[in-house]
Amino acid sequence: MHPAVSTIRTTCPYCGVGCGVLASPDGTGGLNIMGDPAHPANRGRLCVKGSALGETLDRQGRLLAPRIHGREASWDDALDLVAARFAETIAEHGPDSVAFYVSGQLLTEDYYAANKLMKGFIGSANIDTNSRLCMASSVAGHRRAFGTDTVPGLYEDLEQADLVVLTGSNLAWCHPVLFQRLVAAKEARPEMRVVVIDPRRTATCDLADLHLAIAPGADAVLFNLLLAAIAERGAVNQYFISNVNGFDATIHAAREADPAATGLSAEDLERFLDLWTGTEKVVTVYSQGINQSESGSDKVNAILNCHLATGRIGRPGMGPFSVTGQPNAMGGREVGGLANMLACHLDIENATHRSAVQDFWAAPRMAERPGLKAVDMFRAVEDGRIKALWIMCTNPAVSMPEADRVARAIAGCDFVVVSDMVAETDTTRLAHVLLPATGWAEKDGTVTNSERRISRQRRSMAPAGQARDDWRIIADVATRMGWGEHFAWTNPAQIYAEHAALSGVAGRLGSDFDISSHAGITRDAYDRLEPFLWPQSPRKSGGRFFGDGRFHHPDGKARMIPVTPRAPQSVSAEHPYRLNTGRVRDHWHTMTRTGISARLSRHLAEPYLEIHPRDAEALGLSVASLARVSSPEGTAILRVLVTDRVAPGHPFAPIHWTGQTAPSGRVDVLVPGVTDPVSGQPASKSAPVAIAPFRAA
Ligand code: SF4
Repeated sequence: MHPAVSTIRTTCPYCGVGCGVLASPDGTGGLNIMGDPAHPANRGRLCVKGSALGETLDRQGRLLAPRIHGREASWDDALDLVAARFAETIAEHGPDSVAFYVSGQLLTEDYYAANKLMKGFIGSANIDTNSRLCMASSVAGHRRAFGTDTVPGLYEDLEQADLVVLTGSNLAWCHPVLFQRLVAAKEARPEMRVVVIDPRRTATCDLADLHLAIAPGADAVLFNLLLAAIAERGAVNQYFISNVNGFDATIHAAREADPAATGLSAEDLERFLDLWTGTEKVVTVYSQGINQSESGSDKVNAILNCHLATGRIGRPGMGPFSVTGQPNAMGGREVGGLANMLACHLDIENATHRSAVQDFWAAPRMAERPGLKAVDMFRAVEDGRIKALWIMCTNPAVSMPEADRVARAIAGCDFVVVSDMVAETDTTRLAHVLLPATGWAEKDGTVTNSERRISRQRRSMAPAGQARDDWRIIADVATRMGWGEHFAWTNPAQIYAEHAALSGVAGRLGSDFDISSHAGITRDAYDRLEPFLWPQSPRKSGGRFFGDGRFHHPDGKARMIPVTPRAPQSVSAEHPYRLNTGRVRDHWHTMTRTGISARLSRHLAEPYLEIHPRDAEALGLSVASLARVSSPEGTAILRVLVTDRVAPGHPFAPIHWTGQTAPSGRVDVLVPGVTDPVSGQPASKSAPVAIAPFRAA
């Protein structure tokens, strides 16, 4: 079926699957939504969140005009104030006294503009993103193993594999259309095997031939055991490992692994090792259950080690596969929108790379060292090292670990700017200046999904009120700070073209991210841009990486990383339970959009705590009662859901509810600011908590 002429081809703004959407006017000012049959990610499918997009466009609650100290103001006054306060702060206290906290919800063009302003013109790398909470450990693991942050494979590998291992991934709820593709592939090829490794019995387990309810945090032990088995059972690809450094030391470390630490039966463990070592076409999918850990980077590398040892990478139906949580986490990585990255996957600690980017931007002062990662950034806000903070398109007063402390830090900051489409969030309430940004249907740009596919997000509705695109707001501030000629874009196609041209510079320096075939793209060609896989350059177009045994470290080889597993943060007598946090199927982040849809809210209507029957009984918690859950960082009140889907001692709570719900279901107030030392990603899956029946005063 061909879409009607007035139908806009765009992309879903929720998870990292990056489904194509057809949006057409419904005749009443809203949009009818369908899956795009021509989009390679979803082939016409949508999950319940994507199909409900038309129900989330209500303009009630939108931020429609700039506000200064709560009062409506003109754009000129608001922008003048932002530029003046940032300039004054930098002049008085230096570039590192200011920071941007941005979002994987931004489009690539927005992200590019923010990164360019902070790293090239302000001269600090204090720009970090809520994607730090989502996939920073994968970035670190990729860079250690491959020399670059490259996802080797494609979604179709899941369909072509004979064994799909899902570890730390509730794909059925968090990446539903990719899960639907996997279900269809398994129906078509019943001999395909699926293993789910997860302490919880999630909806994803319904597809599993084998569910390994692993002890929380023991993933690296399990993959070390697998690597040792690969070596012992002759499954090492001797040809491929001539392209890999670190083999002997990594195997040596893996042999130390203790099977008892996994909490698995010898029979289940053996079955997994047999399946993995005996199947050539294996894909290992991993997500937040791996990344959100104080040893997330090591867990990622423990997985990558197994694929490198067997050469099962970058070939059809084979490879490790990190699925990203957010719609444009990957785009943020590509523009270097993290505090420890430079644009186009270049290295901020490499003087040649910095100089190449500085020359390209004609930048007056480049950041010369990594900036503060998310948790450290808000600690610096708290202790006054950061005096001016600009938060874009995200709600850290709810979503950051130690969220109460973060909210207090923002409240105490000298100058806080928030750009958002929503007027009232836990974070917008703390801003001195509020800048209205366009929402999903109003934005125009590109996003990159988990398989490196860049798709256009196209405007299908006029901006609400005075809302402006994020890239334009950033450029307007940069202009007022004196750098107008470097931010003189009039449309997002020009930013994309500049980004593509810079990627050509990066490609010549050895970066994998190269879309230089699109340098100089016209507005028309940009508007017609079909979804495509990067790279897209004279050297290489699309496809997989690393099947040829060539990597991006200077010697062209990959690196296996010896992993010594570390246990998660320990519980105590005061806080004896280990709280796991995550998403539900029908809500997104802090519900500023999905919360508008009554249909989506029906799935799970309020914040809750999944707790094992044995724990519930010991604590005197009955079904549907309220529990007070507390940690050294804060307290949440949650509805009790008694279930053996979770293990004793390991309750689960979803992250979405905010301080605006009563009683407060802000679960990230419970999560400590403990991070992985390599990636800086917080450990959001293992907060030590106390639980008690809640009795209203
Ligand atoms: Fe949107 Fe993800 Fe659902 Fe696709 S799977 S429709 S990208 S939320």
